[in-house]
Amino acid sequence: MSAMLGDLPTWNLADLYSSPTGPDLDADLKRAADEAEAFARDYEGKVADLDGKALGGAIARYEAMSDRMGRVGSYASLHYAQNLADPERGRFSQNVTEKLTDISSKLIFFGLEVKRIEDADIADKMKAAPELAKYAPWLRDLRAFRPHTLSDELEKALHEKYVVGRAAWSRLFDETIARLRYPFRNELLSEAQVLDKLSNKDAEVRKDAAKTFGKVQGDNIAVFSLVTNTLAKDKEIEDRWRKYQRPQSSMNLVNCVEDEVVDALQVSVKAAYPRLAHRYYKLKAKWFGVETMPYWDRNAPLPEHDDRTIPWAEAEKIVLDAYGAFSPELATVGKKFFGSGWIDAPARPGKSPGAFAHPTVPSAHPYLLLNYQGKVRDVMTLAHELGHGVHQVLAARQGALMADTPLTLAETASVFGEMLTFQSLLKTAPDKPRARPCWRARSRTC
Ligand SMILES: [Zn+2]
Repeated sequence: MSAMLGDLPTWNLADLYSSPTGPDLDADLKRAADEAEAFARDYEGKVADLDGKALGGAIARYEAMSDRMGRVGSYASLHYAQNLADPERGRFSQNVTEKLTDISSKLIFFGLEVKRIEDADIADKMKAAPELAKYAPWLRDLRAFRPHTLSDELEKALHEKYVVGRAAWSRLFDETIARLRYPFRNELLSEAQVLDKLSNKDAEVRKDAAKTFGKVQGDNIAVFSLVTNTLAKDKEIEDRWRKYQRPQSSMNLVNCVEDEVVDALQVSVKAAYPRLAHRYYKLKAKWFGVETMPYWDRNAPLPEHDDRTIPWAEAEKIVLDAYGAFSPELATVGKKFFGSGWIDAPARPGKSPGAFAHPTVPSAHPYLLLNYQGKVRDVMTLAHELGHGVHQVLAARQGALMADTPLTLAETASVFGEMLTFQSLLKTAPDKPRARPCWRARSRTC
């Protein structure tokens, strides 16, 4: 298989740091710790008294620290994503997370004190100082959490407990999933490999793959239920303390969207099930000549589907041509990702499943993770993640505090890139590609 895919790129993380034990990484951690100490000495308990210009200056310092700490954190999480089953990588990522949590706990006061400033006061300060006004979107988004902020001590305790709470449970989930192997005929497959077989042309292959997938997942149900139930209870406790009305309210606030808007979306999508999903599967069953399709045929390619393997070089060309036909600038930014160590494409045992685009920090560049196996859906995934990646490159000029966008906007760029590619495949390919659902993996951006 891999021979048919051609040369698949892998990440060059040296753009961030030389190695997990490199002196450059240690130096940045040390510098971040010193800067946080100095920052707390200069501003703790004094934020409300700063005039607009001084507050703008403080935020600029905070922004620079966020970039440095974000660079270290990004490096650790990407290094870990390359092999979640490697205990050495897990240990390194955990150590870095703990150190960054210690450092950032010294900075918690800043957000809390900024949130306590009165609306009229902050408006006056912004009017008087362009240095502060430039951070208006960051201030707005931060201050939206005012009604859900706890006392300083509680906020600090929750922040420090995070590494042994939610983060630890998520890590247990990631590492368990990555370690699972699926017996398939005479092979032992990883998750990405077995899921790929669910869209194999041969019905027996699909059935065997679905059975082994269900069996292995079922054998591990105890740990998965414990993780899910613990995370749900953890969230219920925190939501109650923070006075969020509903489980989805905190995420909607992060995404800058009102509960009512998401409710309306959900109602409309549900109402469309019979007209879209149900009709599609009925039609698909008809094409397969059956009344009801077995569950393992949900992702089956259509009977006339051409299931040839698309080599990596061709995938690159398809996506960049599609981007370029819409906007040469889009293709120029997209091209930076290829041949430069920004994409990790092969499906390897232990590697993080799914796909994501990690923006890292504005002073570096984004990295894309794929599990590329040469199917049309893999080309669409590349188009999707590249859409995020191009957006992240273009947004970097907003700086470390404002480059990140809520999910609602982030997915616009990726789905747009996917649809451009979809359109161009429709024009040229004999078989019609199907849009893939967004598979938001473990990072902020899917
Ligand atoms: Zn996405």
